[in-house]
Amino acid sequence: MSSAVLKLSKTDIQKLKNYYSDYLLNKNVPYSEFSAKKNGVNITAYTSGKVLFQGNNAEQEAARWGKTDPTTAKKSSTLPKDFASLAVLGSDEVGNGSYFGPLCVCASYADKEHLADLRQLGVKDSKMLTDSQIRAMAVKIKELIPFKLLVVNPEKYNAIQPQYNAVRMKVALHNQAIRLLLEQISPTKPDAILIDQFTSEANYLKYVKQEAQRVEQKIYFVTKGEQYHLSVAAASIISRASFLEELDKASLELGTKVPSGAGRSSDELAAKLLRQGGIALLNKYAKLHFANTEKAKKLI
Ligand code: MG
Repeated sequence: MSSAVLKLSKTDIQKLKNYYSDYLLNKNVPYSEFSAKKNGVNITAYTSGKVLFQGNNAEQEAARWGKTDPTTAKKSSTLPKDFASLAVLGSDEVGNGSYFGPLCVCASYADKEHLADLRQLGVKDSKMLTDSQIRAMAVKIKELIPFKLLVVNPEKYNAIQPQYNAVRMKVALHNQAIRLLLEQISPTKPDAILIDQFTSEANYLKYVKQEAQRVEQKIYFVTKGEQYHLSVAAASIISRASFLEELDKASLELGTKVPSGAGRSSDELAAKLLRQGGIALLNKYAKLHFANTEKAKKLI
């Protein structure tokens, strides 16, 4: 899969948005202006002005709009041949872009014998599944294959985040989930390890060096990892189900529906919680470093 990155002005991004208006995706990518998919190319425009094109013909599509910058292009690992049919340990996270709720990271291991079972369960890209399908599927996946799930609730997240920035925290969690799962399945060794890419490989390696214990085996990084191996799709579904469960618990405790994402409804609930119990109450339910906290303060 190829990718290309452009840096464009606000006006140009608006032009792109109009051009791709029939192909917009209803996705909540953090810090993005819009996401679209046309002819197999995924297009994500960020508020920073960066526009990422991914997929076959990504470069041709990007070339319509400007000269691509090879230094900022996100490099994806070249995966081994027939990757989808290998025994792979895959990991993914959910909750990173949601103001309320935890950050959930999961690693799961799908060996050759279990790939057909996972396929039969209907395991695929969790974005193509409904919440209720995800909940039901997660239960079955957990019975079928080994996994390690780490859930960082908002209170803990807020305690760690000031020292660890969000990327370093994710690196530490993926590293830990993979490490613990490798221990659990030992002496079995996966053919490969794949992380659904959330930062550059260089960044990952920089941060993981600061961890006391690290995974020795080579790790592959690729965006949309769930499309390359079912272990990543399974990890994503388990993470998502856990995230939904935690939002449900929060909704029950607060007696009101706690929203996912980081939109207006999140600001409004945050304002309500601030009025009720101040920052101490909000600290239990929300990732305080998001801009929503300031927006909520202004609403009061
Ligand atoms: Mg991911």
